[in-house]
Amino acid sequence: MLKLYNTLSRKIEEVPQKDHINLYTCGPTVYNYAHIGNLRSYIMADLLYRTLKYDGYKPKWVMNITDIDDKTIKGAITKFGNKATVENLREFTQFYLDEFLKDLSEVNVVSSEDYQIYQPGQALDFSKKLIFIRVTDVIKETQDFIVELINKGYAYKADDGSTYFSIEKYQKGFDDYGALVGEKFIEGKKVGARVAVDEYEKDNLSDFALWKAWDEASDAQIFWDHSTLGKGRPGWHIECSVINKIGFNGEPTDIHTGGVDLIFPHHTNEIAQSQALFGKGNFVHHWFHSEHLLVDGKKMSKSAGNFYVLKDLKPINSYHLDKYQPYALRYLFLQAHYRVQQNFTQKSLDASHNGLLGLIVSAHKDGVISDLRLVGLDNDLNSPLAISENKPSEILEALIGISVKSMIDPNRLVSDDELSADIKSLKKERETAKNQKDFKKSDELRKQIEDLGYEVMDTPEGQKVKKKLQI
Ligand code: AMP
Ligand code: ZN
Repeated sequence: MLKLYNTLSRKIEEVPQKDHINLYTCGPTVYNYAHIGNLRSYIMADLLYRTLKYDGYKPKWVMNITDIDDKTIKGAITKFGNKATVENLREFTQFYLDEFLKDLSEVNVVSSEDYQIYQPGQALDFSKKLIFIRVTDVIKETQDFIVELINKGYAYKADDGSTYFSIEKYQKGFDDYGALVGEKFIEGKKVGARVAVDEYEKDNLSDFALWKAWDEASDAQIFWDHSTLGKGRPGWHIECSVINKIGFNGEPTDIHTGGVDLIFPHHTNEIAQSQALFGKGNFVHHWFHSEHLLVDGKKMSKSAGNFYVLKDLKPINSYHLDKYQPYALRYLFLQAHYRVQQNFTQKSLDASHNGLLGLIVSAHKDGVISDLRLVGLDNDLNSPLAISENKPSEILEALIGISVKSMIDPNRLVSDDELSADIKSLKKERETAKNQKDFKKSDELRKQIEDLGYEVMDTPEGQKVKKKLQI
């Protein structure tokens, strides 16, 4: 049974076993490359997914792709000019979506064969590990959701043409706005101001935009028209309420993940919008938030300019390291618990790299383990404990996603007939040395055999030679 910290209750709670688990992750805004801080949050969500699987749960995993917001529109206009259209926006964001998918594949979150990108009208294919839903593919459902909020009195169209969510009205019915931030969040705050931008601080309670009226100067030709809402586009928060509903066919979400910066306003507003339609307690049961990756003690972020993307990372000076660099990053992240901040340095990545190679070598000595048994993860995904308590092959298989089986070359064992004459004679010499109990000599001979690219093992049937591990 998995026990997991729930941001809403501020307690570690059991995740109940049921037919399946609806798992939702707030996805990237595709206006630029994802930085490795973003990747930390997806690797932690993947750790959760894998742990659920090992524990016999059946997770259905859905992630939104934010391909419409202030930043993506700005990017599309920079690329296509001030007549940019929705098609231009789609082309601009598709590039970064593809790059994001490559990154996720490199750090073993999801391979290219194991996801579906939802197309309108298509059935969701939960035989895949992860389903991505782009916001611009669910505009109609978003408009319907907002109209329902208007019909129930939770949303209103303002003088500026945009449609806002009414916190005052919500509070009358639910009295829990901001509960995800803290019990006393609402105390002493004035309700009433309106905010049109997507991101804002938590000092003032503001009605936030569900549908932003079109403004040609900042939006070019990027808008959708609607009989009630008018020309415009969705605000940021509404998309996740809508995509949770579509992804899980109206069922509540069991676990919802994201970085801690999303607690307010994004997740707070998701809760308000969804509870307004589906009732209290009928949206998300368990909120999972991962802490930030820092650089020089500050949050890694695009706006601060202190970020690295995956392809910036420099491998340390050795021939095989390129291949393992993304895994070394994943291994580095797993060495810190998801609820603590982690400071990134190139030095720590290099150390993680060496540690990973050590694991690979040890895993070959262990051989393949048929029955994975993971210690530590059930206790609120304690990955540092899991790393200290499990066998190297278990760590590689279960935490990093490297298949030890596929790395072990069944042809490494070499029969006597296939050995070259010099190895044969070294082997014979070593046998004599061992019989004479001359262990110093036998060790020297082992070293000579290794220098020629082979390993020698002492088995009950005598010495066996295999090709040295290539990593
Ligand atoms: P964004 O693309 O900005 O919407 O962010 C995508 C995800 O990355 C969200 O879950 C954020 O909370 C998370 N995130 C952003 N910055 C960091 C960081 N420095 N460390 C860890 N996660 C982050
Ligand atoms: Zn979201």
